[in-house]
Amino acid sequence: MVKKCLTLVRSKEGLFSSTQPNVLRITAMLPDHSDHSVLADEIPKDLMKPSNLHDIDDDIESDKPQEACGVFGVLAAEGDVAKLVYFGLYALQHRGQESAGITVYDDRGTTNTYKAMGLVSQVFNETILSSLKGSLAIGHNRYSTTGSSKVCNAQPIVVNTRLGDFSLAHNGNLVNATELRGELSAQGHALESTTDSEGIAFAVSEAVDEGQDWQAAIVTALRRCHGAFSLVMAMPNAIAGARDAYGVRPLVIGKTTDGSYVLASETCGLDIIGAEYVREVLPGELVIITIENGIQSLQWEESKPKLCVFEMIYFARPDSVMHDESLYTYRMRIGSELAKESPIDADIVIGVPDSGIPAAIGFSRESGIPYAEGLIKNRYVGRTFIQPTQAMRESGIKMKLNPLKDVLQGKRVIVIDDSIVRGTTSRKIVRALREAGATEVHMRISSPPVTHPCFYGIDTDSQDNLIASHESVAAIAKQIEVDTLAYLTHDAMLKATHIDTTHFCTACFTGKYPIEVPDKLKRTKLMLESTAP
Ligand code: SF4
Repeated sequence: MVKKCLTLVRSKEGLFSSTQPNVLRITAMLPDHSDHSVLADEIPKDLMKPSNLHDIDDDIESDKPQEACGVFGVLAAEGDVAKLVYFGLYALQHRGQESAGITVYDDRGTTNTYKAMGLVSQVFNETILSSLKGSLAIGHNRYSTTGSSKVCNAQPIVVNTRLGDFSLAHNGNLVNATELRGELSAQGHALESTTDSEGIAFAVSEAVDEGQDWQAAIVTALRRCHGAFSLVMAMPNAIAGARDAYGVRPLVIGKTTDGSYVLASETCGLDIIGAEYVREVLPGELVIITIENGIQSLQWEESKPKLCVFEMIYFARPDSVMHDESLYTYRMRIGSELAKESPIDADIVIGVPDSGIPAAIGFSRESGIPYAEGLIKNRYVGRTFIQPTQAMRESGIKMKLNPLKDVLQGKRVIVIDDSIVRGTTSRKIVRALREAGATEVHMRISSPPVTHPCFYGIDTDSQDNLIASHESVAAIAKQIEVDTLAYLTHDAMLKATHIDTTHFCTACFTGKYPIEVPDKLKRTKLMLESTAP
């Protein structure tokens, strides 16, 4: 029997509801949260104010590839876990800042979901978290890579099935999303969001309702999906994690001392709640975890590892561990390789905060040129504003980088950054360094030139906007007004991982996409808008 459930969404237009069966739902749970949370469909006003900070008047991250999403889940023997999920999402905030959500299952398997636009700390407060009761919960931070920035696209996604509610949080991007949604719509499913993730949830519910058990239904659904997906899923009494065969996006398993199981995009999500790292979910693996049976594993597709190398260089937090070492260590190593490959005589080495700093320290150690902090970022602003449309970006808060004049005055400066996308921010940084008294500015980039867009869950702008897709290194150097410019080579980037160099996706540097990308997908990231209700 299909349950009827009430969908209530709080938006600027007020409450509206749906009683469709089997639909995405946002539980009607609207305590007074005006101090901390935001109305659905509304970007926080304080993030939209023009800033009066103007030293380097640019939002750095808008000129960087944008992360996709953070996913997190906890299964405990007893007690409420929503707060643990909150802290997990808080640690994963760098992976998506547009919306956040948590779905909990109570003892009877009934779900309760809260999700809204904004940062984790803005979406949730004590009142909301303490009303999310249950020992099983999953959560999601979102940056829109498929589907636009609306609360209906926030996750987790919850669908009703004959076996109970199924919920899902997705990091990645399907390359066959339109086809999958088309098939599901033709079969009568009422898709309500514009995301690819909803298609996965409905594919699972369809297989369950056709008679399959949870494991078989999830595998059936995964086999209909092509592209990048690291999923945290939940059903009554169990959480599950799955990765695509290439393992493009990370996903790890942890365990707390009291026996709770945790799934997280990165190990920093385990650390914050004191969980020990158990292992990663393997590419092509599905794990279903229950308190009674622990971790049950199924290799649902042959593993063909192609982790996104940009996770190593920039996306993931530096304190997260991949391949048995922190990314801070890897990033220092690529800085050192950069110094070997492209040495230059100078007085100081500085990094563009925060992501360029480990590589700058590595460059300094290898070259013997002193490391200095030449640019100070206002850490209290944080990464508060990643917004997907240009109009939103233009009205978004400006990130502040202050050059330290007494450090830079009269110095020949090597400045290290992790990537150049459009080049606009790089030029502003270079100008600011010169205005602060630098006599020479040499830029070194700890990745190869970004020449191709990503279709696996990272927003890298269209190819036309990628400066390295149509300009030589010399021309870029001229445009960003540096004395010299050099990038890390593709070989050095991969060798520095110290693992099999074929185990990475490097498509945004090479155009060689490990998962075939249909031509029509290359046109726009908002392609699903035309099929949205
Ligand atoms: Fe990562 Fe680039 Fe591959 Fe996208 S194309 S998954 S950003 S390496």
